[in-house]
Amino acid sequence: MGEFIKDIVAVIVLLCMPSHAWAADATPPSILISPKKIVPGGLMVVTVKNAVGMVEGSFRGKQLHFNPAKGAFKAVTGIDLNTEPGPYQLALSVDGTPLARDVLIVKKRYPVQRLTLPEDMVVLSPENEARAERDQRKMASIWPVDSLRVWSGRFIDPLPGKALGTPFGVRRIINNIPKNPHSGVDINADEGDPVQAPNDGVVILVDDQFYSGNSVVLDHGQGIYTMFFHLSKATVKYGQAVRKGDVIALVGSTGRSTGAHLHWGVRVQGAKVDPLELIKLKLD
Ligand SMILES: [Zn+2]
Repeated sequence: MGEFIKDIVAVIVLLCMPSHAWAADATPPSILISPKKIVPGGLMVVTVKNAVGMVEGSFRGKQLHFNPAKGAFKAVTGIDLNTEPGPYQLALSVDGTPLARDVLIVKKRYPVQRLTLPEDMVVLSPENEARAERDQRKMASIWPVDSLRVWSGRFIDPLPGKALGTPFGVRRIINNIPKNPHSGVDINADEGDPVQAPNDGVVILVDDQFYSGNSVVLDHGQGIYTMFFHLSKATVKYGQAVRKGDVIALVGSTGRSTGAHLHWGVRVQGAKVDPLELIKLKLD
């Protein structure tokens, strides 16, 4: 009977082993998920150590892009502001062996801002309504499938040393009507202050839009985009390659804006995330 139980235990152990087990003397891969609290509007970094060859993965239907990072592999993905808190599965393939981890997305409370504005500032004329819809369609069409990585190193602040205005994620209620939450961070600056590219990238939009005014969008590759709104002017052209720190635009107050400031937005694999979280990360 004892032997029988031992056999069963051995079978269970075998069944629980990954199909392509690592050699007995090799260190099995370790998976680290950071930060500790994964929240809507934040980023998630997956670090895989002790992988020999290939690391692939996906989370919530998005492909993760793993890059070598000091002997490990790291991928970053965005958690959209509208994500329902709860458990989600992270699916990985490390050296051909499937591995899964549960990731808990926890609720984050963003501040609420109530504003009362004259009705004519809130209700658009039919022409402006049509224009805003056109802008929205244009903006929705610019995101290509994740392009090749051009970013490297840290992402930098596009306007270093300036005070922050309205933070990311603020839920705005204008004249008692809930509006879309603030999808970027406002940085207070003076008209004409130079805005620098947070990383190497390609200009995929230069446009004058009803709400966001003169706008520039950069594609940094692997699904990471940065957006700059209310500019007095763009100093780059559509399709241009830019380097980290290059001046891409000047601060202004175009579009629906009440004073000179930069609205800086970040998208990571389609998720709108807090730009200040992106510049905290060391990804390679
Ligand atoms: Zn803003």
